Amino acid sequence: MAENKFGFGLIGASTISRERMIGAMNDSGVALPVAIFSRDMVRGRAFADEMGIPRAYDRLEDMLADPTVDGVYVASTNERHHAEVLASAAAGKHVLCDKPLAMSVAQAAEMVRACDAAGVVFATNHHMRCGAHHIAMREIVRSGQLGELVVVRVVHGALLPAHLQTVRINDPASCAVAIIDLAVHDADIVRVLTGDEIVEVAAMGKNSGMGTDRIEDTALAIFRTAGGTLGHIHNVFNTPFNRGAIEIHGTKGSLYALDNMGQSPQGTVRLRDAKGEREIPLQHEDLYVRMVRSVVAAARGEGEPACSGRDGLRSLAVALAMLKSARDNRTVAVPAEG
Ligand code: NDP
Repeated sequence: MAENKFGFGLIGASTISRERMIGAMNDSGVALPVAIFSRDMVRGRAFADEMGIPRAYDRLEDMLADPTVDGVYVASTNERHHAEVLASAAAGKHVLCDKPLAMSVAQAAEMVRACDAAGVVFATNHHMRCGAHHIAMREIVRSGQLGELVVVRVVHGALLPAHLQTVRINDPASCAVAIIDLAVHDADIVRVLTGDEIVEVAAMGKNSGMGTDRIEDTALAIFRTAGGTLGHIHNVFNTPFNRGAIEIHGTKGSLYALDNMGQSPQGTVRLRDAKGEREIPLQHEDLYVRMVRSVVAAARGEGEPACSGRDGLRSLAVALAMLKSARDNRTVAVPAEG
């Protein structure tokens, strides 16, 4: 551990690392990015220089042999996650892996088993769990103030930035299309907020002009949880003025979150019940900083990461069921376990 801080080795010279995660590691007070592996040494070296990372590698096994690397942050393209997590676990490194965890539930399950067997932390970067709005909403639901949950609504739409209009809109085989890229977050947040599992989905997708041939850039799904709550999720890449939102309606109260589905610590939550309507006070903090701190604490034996590998497996199972439903035009059951 450098300066008694947790050393992260980054896997992939990625946008999310540049825009969010390196800053979050530095700001966390408990971690530092100490190395990067990129398949391209020139790009990796340039990225390291730009971001103030001491070492760059172009062979993953070399970075995994670096003793200053306590854990890895996997932010490569989705199809690489499986092999890179297995290699990291085999090297005894803790793992924070970005979403979607893998290309299939079977792969994700193998990753969970490998990290368990190696005794390393395996966390999924579902950062939205770490938002003050969602933490507050979860507490209100758990307290019973909403009564029995009846319906949930998740609106997750925006404009996919031009520099990310790559595999997400042009690779039908990739697990990056809107239904997977966004729906994993939505499935995860529904699980967190309701404390329940999504067991069945019926989805429709369409191309609203951003996706290329055979790529849905827009999807809407309805779902049912094991406890009987119904809900719907909408995902879209092509709506620049769309405000993210979540509504949770119960027999005794309703919660309304607005501007809460992004990457920044912002948004509001309002509660309506028999006492009237009021805004819930929130202590906003960088969502990714909270995630990093939870992973480092877990690696030090202090509790669990904010989102586990099993959680990432469950969100992937729901999103894959959604994709299957949209493409096969039928209701799909979410497999119970990977
Ligand atoms: P990018 O497209 O920016 O990068 C993905 C990988 O592509 C990099 O790791 C890098 O690997 C490679 N790469 C980078 N630049 C080039 C280039 N010029 N030519 C060829 N290859 C290049 O991905 P994102 O940052 O958008 O996403 C990475 C992961 O993070 C995904 O799994 C995504 O789903 C997830 N994500 C999560 C978010 C969250 O909030 N939790 C938000 C955004 C993304 P290498 O250097 O090894 O070649």
